[in-house]
Amino acid sequence: MSGLDSLLALVKAEQISVLHLQFVDLMGSVKSVAVPANRLADVLDQGLGFDGSAIEGFAREEEADMRLAPDLSTARLWRASSGFRELRLICESTLPDGLPFAGDPRRILARSVDRALASGAPQLMISAELEFFLLPQGFVAETPDPGDPAGYFDEFPSHRHERCLEAMAGGLADAGVGVTQIHHEAAPNQYEVDLAPLPPVAAADAIVTAKLIIRREAGLHGFTASFMPKPFNRHPGSGLHLAFKSADPNRESSMWSSFAAGILAHAPGLCALANPTVNSYKRLGGSEAPGFAVWSDRHPAPYLRRMEGIWEWRAPDASAHPYLALACAIAAGVDGLEQRLDLPPRLDDLPERWSAEQRFLRHVAELPASLRDALEALEQDDCLQAALGDHALRHYLEAKKLEWKAYAQTVHAWEREMYLTL
Ligand code: GLN
Ligand code: MG
Ligand code: MG
Ligand code: MG
Repeated sequence: MSGLDSLLALVKAEQISVLHLQFVDLMGSVKSVAVPANRLADVLDQGLGFDGSAIEGFAREEEADMRLAPDLSTARLWRASSGFRELRLICESTLPDGLPFAGDPRRILARSVDRALASGAPQLMISAELEFFLLPQGFVAETPDPGDPAGYFDEFPSHRHERCLEAMAGGLADAGVGVTQIHHEAAPNQYEVDLAPLPPVAAADAIVTAKLIIRREAGLHGFTASFMPKPFNRHPGSGLHLAFKSADPNRESSMWSSFAAGILAHAPGLCALANPTVNSYKRLGGSEAPGFAVWSDRHPAPYLRRMEGIWEWRAPDASAHPYLALACAIAAGVDGLEQRLDLPPRLDDLPERWSAEQRFLRHVAELPASLRDALEALEQDDCLQAALGDHALRHYLEAKKLEWKAYAQTVHAWEREMYLTL
C-alpha cells in the first residue's frame, strides 16, 4: 500500500471525518484549519490555499496567497478522551508556485539541520522535558492552588489530577508521541512529561503536539495547563530542557565538546528564541533555572549539563519556540565545530556568589536579564541571524520588540506597592 492508501484505510477504519492541517507561525502560535476527511487525496495532491497575510509575522503583503503542503509522514490519529477523533497533518507553508516560504519555522529548522550535516556535524537526536502547571480553570492567584501536597517525583494515589494525567498519556500514545516518563515536579500542581529522543524536526513536532494534547485533556478535565515560564513568585518555573545526543555514539568526543562550546558561546542571543517572553527572565537565575552560561556535570542548575554522551541544554523554558530555538542552537553548535571552540573549564561552583570581577576573570557570562537584552544580543549575533534568515529575523525582532515595549509601558502591581506612597 502507498502512504496515501494506508492513510485512506486508516480514515475509513477509524471513521475519521475531519483532517486537522496544522502549522506553527514565527511567534510560535499553532495555527490550524479543519478540512472534511473526504478531501484527503485532493489536499495531499494540491495542498490547501490560505491567506497568509492574516498571520502575524508570516507573510509579506505580496505573499498573501499561500499554500499549506501537508507532510505525509506526520499524519497521526488524534483521539481525545471525549471520544472525538481526527487525522492530524503537519504542513509546510509554500508560496503559490510551490517554493518554500522563508518565514516557515519548520523549514528554518530543516535547513539548519541540513547545514549541520553538510558541515560534518553528527546526526542529532533531541529529547525534551516539558514542565507545566495544572491549574483549576479560570485560576488567577499569586500562588498555585494549595490543594496539592506533592513535590518532586511524589506518588499521588487517587490524586485529583490522576485521571487527567492518564488521559494525557493515552492521547500522547495514540498520537504516536513517545513518552519516557511523567512525574510530579517540585511545585504544587506542577508536572513534567519527558519525550523520547527524535531527529530535530520530529522532536519539535512532538513538542508542539504534546503541548496541544496536554492542553486539550486538561480542558476536558476542568483544568488549564499553563506553560508560562514563571507563573509564581515563590515556586520554580517551567522549563523545557532539550537534550542533544549524537545518533552515532562513536563520533569523536572532541567534536561533540566543540558543539557544546558553540551553544555556550552563543548563549545570550539564543535566549531570544529559547526564552522568548517577558516572563521568561523571571525564571532564569532562580529555582534550578540557569543564570549564567556555564556547563557542569555537578552544579545543580548549569546552562548546559553533561551526562553520558548527552548535553542537556537547560535554559529553554516552556514558552520556547521549539523550531526556532533548535534551529539556532544547532547553528551555534555547528559554529563551535567550525571554529573548533574549546569548552571552557567545567564549573561546579555557584557563580551567583562571585563578584563581577571574578566572573569576568573566569569568562563566565551572565544570561540576559530581560527580553530586551536578549533581543539586543540576537541583533549582535551573525551566526544566529544567518540561521533564521532575513525574513524571519526581521519579523521576529519587530514583533518581540513590540511585546517588550507593551510590557515596559504597563504599570504593574509591584510598582504601586513600592511607590504609591513614596
Ligand atoms: N523547573 C526547573 C526549570 O525551570 C527545572 C527543575 C528540574 O527539572 N530540575 O528549569
Ligand atoms: Mg527531568
Ligand atoms: Mg524537571
Ligand atoms: Mg532536565
